[in-house]
Amino acid sequence: MDSEVDIVIVGAGAAGLAAASRLASSPVSHLVLEARHRVGGRAHTVGAGGHALDLGCGWLHSALTNPFSQVAERLGFEIDKSPPHWVHQAGDQNFSASDQAAFRRDLNALENRIGAAAAMGEDIAAAALLDPAGVWNPLLDAFSSFYNGAEFDQISTVDYDAYEDGEVNWRLTAGYGALITAFGADAPVRLETAVTRIDHSGPRLRIHTPRGELSARAVIVTVPTDLIAGEAIAFTPALPAVLEAAAALPLGLANKVFLGLDEPQAFAVGSHLFGDPSRTETGSYAMRPMGRPMIEGYLGGRNARELEREGSGAASAFAVEELVALLGSDFRSKLHPLAETLWGSDPWARGSYSHAAPGRAAMRAMLAQPVEQRIVFAGEACSPHDFSTAHGAAQSGSAAADLALAFLAAIP
Ligand SMILES: Cc1cc2nc3c(=O)[nH]c(=O)nc-3n(C[C@H](O)[C@H](O)[C@H](O)COP(=O)(O)OP(=O)(O)OC[C@H]3O[C@@H](n4cnc5c(N)ncnc54)[C@H](O)[C@@H]3O)c2cc1C
Repeated sequence: MDSEVDIVIVGAGAAGLAAASRLASSPVSHLVLEARHRVGGRAHTVGAGGHALDLGCGWLHSALTNPFSQVAERLGFEIDKSPPHWVHQAGDQNFSASDQAAFRRDLNALENRIGAAAAMGEDIAAAALLDPAGVWNPLLDAFSSFYNGAEFDQISTVDYDAYEDGEVNWRLTAGYGALITAFGADAPVRLETAVTRIDHSGPRLRIHTPRGELSARAVIVTVPTDLIAGEAIAFTPALPAVLEAAAALPLGLANKVFLGLDEPQAFAVGSHLFGDPSRTETGSYAMRPMGRPMIEGYLGGRNARELEREGSGAASAFAVEELVALLGSDFRSKLHPLAETLWGSDPWARGSYSHAAPGRAAMRAMLAQPVEQRIVFAGEACSPHDFSTAHGAAQSGSAAADLALAFLAAIP
């Protein structure tokens, strides 16, 4: 390993690769250190059932302004622009059209109350604004478990309201993870090189890894917040304000289950079902996504955590049981588990995407505050309005690179 570089980037996910891309057009030397044997982080596409499956990010959210839409066009990735399943009416097997309309009304009303509270600066748990008599509260919490990775009792009103949804959502046939990997193809990355300590006690930073040590003038740290809060990287001297900010922005959990489907023609392409709309502990099932003969299930929050604790296969078994209860016992033989995720036990992620705890929305800006004009944090959790997304991570990574370049330019 080169023992001296200008800027070290820790983590080769969307944020780290975007930082490297920004630095590539500058004269400074830089190196990305990545703990895994692959780049992409929470953007990861695998092949299964003859298709490219996104285990992490799958949707180009806010697609009209998402920088990865342009990257996809430039790199020749096919974009699927069909509308997402959540804008359609769900299947009516267990959820009548009038119940769906009532649920949507309750969700809109809750979001309006959250918006009003945020406008008054009331940073409280969003669950406090649920209608105590609301019949759709369990499904509202299920929605939050998918959207935020945690139920509304763990979600800050101000943070929830700060998210800016461009409302156009596209997908990539070859996978969002594959796109981000291709985007980072030229980045100078050292794989299987976990950073364990950043020593900022001297004039140059000392970056420690099990493969050796290097020195740098600045560092951009893009690892997920639970790893920062858990001190997977030790800072010398300690950075208590950073640990506090990261701990206030925990990763929620959302896991995916892919089930191959015999006789797919029984379902409309892009249709959707909830396993049981009367429960919080239920899955959201996208039927035949992009026309594929499969079901993509989404499980979130406490339910996903409990299933992950049970171990590999538990989430797929849960999804199969919910679908069989809904569609009949004959359906069991038509389903074939293809893949499932365990993001909570992934040692380099420890969850899916960040949310601010009630009262702690200001911690995103706090985490994004550089330390000593040479330690800059980036990643989805540092994005003020696009947190929890791949494009928010990339924008934060580019901004961190600009800051690091400005700091280096200011110090001869
Ligand atoms: C199930 C799921 C579904 C999602 N769906 C969407 C979606 O549809 N659309 C969307 O935009 N977003 C989605 N996301 C979120 C999106 O994937 C993330 O917000 C984004 O990829 C985060 O990028 P990042 O660079 O901030 O972090 P990461 O991708 O986590 O990158 C951080 C990198 O740091 C590495 N690392 C960790 N510790 C160390 C260390 N000590 N030393 C060196 N390297 C280290 C990690 O291995 C990782 O590669 C989803 C995520 C999940 C899990």
